[in-house]
Amino acid sequence: NAGTSTRTVAAIRRTTDLYAKGGAVRIHGISKSFGALKVLDNIELSLPAGSVTAIIGPSGSGKSTLLRSINHLERVDGGFISVDGELVGYTQKGEVLYELKEKDILKRRTDIGMVFQSFNLFPHLTVLENLIEAPTQVRGASKEDAIAFAQELLARVGLSDKADAYPRQLSGGQQQRVAIARALALRPKVLLFDEPTSALDPELVGEVLDVIKELARTGTTLVIVTHEIGFAREVADTVVFMEGGHVIETGAPAQILNDPRHPRTRAFLAKVL
Ligand code: ADP
Ligand code: MG
Repeated sequence: NAGTSTRTVAAIRRTTDLYAKGGAVRIHGISKSFGALKVLDNIELSLPAGSVTAIIGPSGSGKSTLLRSINHLERVDGGFISVDGELVGYTQKGEVLYELKEKDILKRRTDIGMVFQSFNLFPHLTVLENLIEAPTQVRGASKEDAIAFAQELLARVGLSDKADAYPRQLSGGQQQRVAIARALALRPKVLLFDEPTSALDPELVGEVLDVIKELARTGTTLVIVTHEIGFAREVADTVVFMEGGHVIETGAPAQILNDPRHPRTRAFLAKVL
């Protein structure tokens, strides 16, 4: 009921810096199960505005579910998440104490871009049309403004000459660069990448990582699930190692990747490095 919600939110507000603005992400004690399988177990993370976080860990450790939770594609069973100072929900022991309305969640989601392994471009639209679709439909931008910004973004990802091409006419690396430009077209405060280079031929990985590296300098908060350890070392402020639904270890790249404290982190890195 409304009284409980208001008190709950006020209490959270007093006891945490949850409401940090400018694209900060706060994750407090979140848990998520699918049936009997606990996929996220009491995850605690604080990502400052403008930070670049790399999440590494074995397959099935909960990395995608964590990203999906940040983007409100999953409702967590416990804990809370806030993005850019906006609390989305608060659940305790499965009881929802506070929750944004569905339409407000949709609105929030436009502040959070997501780039998937499989590009997910609209196949029947040209590159330019892919980029102006959401700004004009969701944000109510004028077509003129949306096109101008789309052209700027295509220049940034090195694809100015592909505006009129269809996705199928592009290489995987080019499609992924378009997908990144499309996510940027909504001017997100937070951009989530879920293994953005895993579906690419090895020779196309570099061009996508270069675009993300460039973004890392622009002040957008980035969260990148990746198996590219060298890339994580180079661009991330913080590396998070997950296994079995737990954050095992988190710290600066040099510390986590060169001198991990936890034996599980060491075992994982020994396999992938
Ligand atoms: P990762 O991205 O680290 O590989 P995921 O977050 O995709 O891990 O998945 C974590 C675990 O949760 C896996 O065991 C996966 O099979 C399971 N899982 C993910 N999504 C669902 C779902 N919608 N229903 C049931 N199980 C799921
Ligand atoms: Mg995954």
